[in-house]
Amino acid sequence: MAASAAVFFAIFVFSMESSITNSHTRPVKGRFAPSPTGRMHLGNVAAALLSWLSAKSAGGSWLLRIEDLDPQRSKVEHARLVEDDLAWLGLEWDEGGLDDIGSNAPYSQSRRHDIYAQFLERLNDTGYTYPCRCTRAEIMATQAPHQSDGRVVYGGRCRPAVLPCSQADFTGAATRIYVPDEVISYRDGLYGDMHFNLAREVGDFVLRRADGAWAYQLAVVVDDALMGVTEVVRGSDLLLSAAQQIYLYRLLGLEPPCFAHVPLLCSDGGRRLSKRDRSLDMQSLRARFSAPELIGRVAAMLGLIPEYSPATPAALVEGFSWAKIKPELTLEVNPDLF
Ligand code: GLU
Repeated sequence: MAASAAVFFAIFVFSMESSITNSHTRPVKGRFAPSPTGRMHLGNVAAALLSWLSAKSAGGSWLLRIEDLDPQRSKVEHARLVEDDLAWLGLEWDEGGLDDIGSNAPYSQSRRHDIYAQFLERLNDTGYTYPCRCTRAEIMATQAPHQSDGRVVYGGRCRPAVLPCSQADFTGAATRIYVPDEVISYRDGLYGDMHFNLAREVGDFVLRRADGAWAYQLAVVVDDALMGVTEVVRGSDLLLSAAQQIYLYRLLGLEPPCFAHVPLLCSDGGRRLSKRDRSLDMQSLRARFSAPELIGRVAAMLGLIPEYSPATPAALVEGFSWAKIKPELTLEVNPDLF
């Protein structure tokens, strides 16, 4: 009896304390993949800190990738400020960034066009992609039943009658990928078992826009796979995206990373923080707090430490455990701390 209790305890402790990366064949590598469209805010800091701590507490490395796919909104000045803010916080990256440190360069998505083109080709070879020439208005008019959160579910207007199809002319068209009416499941490191039916939740989705811009879903899969990322830690708004990404990993025959999504920060009774919330962006946070004061406040808000005291990321590594974070989709910014 005592022995089996001890075994149970050992397994329990092991599963609570072990890293979210369950692969034993690849070294643990986490990543932070900001879109340089503005100054980082408190929510980005929380996600970056958790991603860094998760990788470092498992003895792994941490990569910084610049997700500047959107040419209108991405600016190199913003990317420089992200780097400056991360370094100021003590969240140093081992690989990547604007200086392309490491063997998987380039680390800015705007310079990875040829790589995405190769992988799109591979997806085209499966016969499950097709050209879509729908206008925005047509998509809205023919979408599958409305999602309550305003998400658009593509109704399949351009989908060929028979799939896989071998010949298609993609000139001037967006490329969409067919999704089966099937549940995609994965185990999230914080929220546990997740199940999504992509046909119902998103429909066939875009891999490349008609103007040639690469879609986030394709770029992120290709990059995480080629850069050897084993764990992805990011906001809970991307829980459904993980299912889309797992589907692409499967079609490409690539090993997916482990996913842990983290609560989105909200203020004013549930409104999600965004880059427009100037009072909680890094410019004002840096004016109000020293780096250890800010990290300590974020750590206390997340439950990583029982009450606020100044801290550095490095000092939080030892006591870090995913079990300390409440698996809630959102977290209200604590007004006593900020
Ligand atoms: N680039 C995305 C963002 O800044 C993050 C994507 C990801 O972590 O997969 O919201």
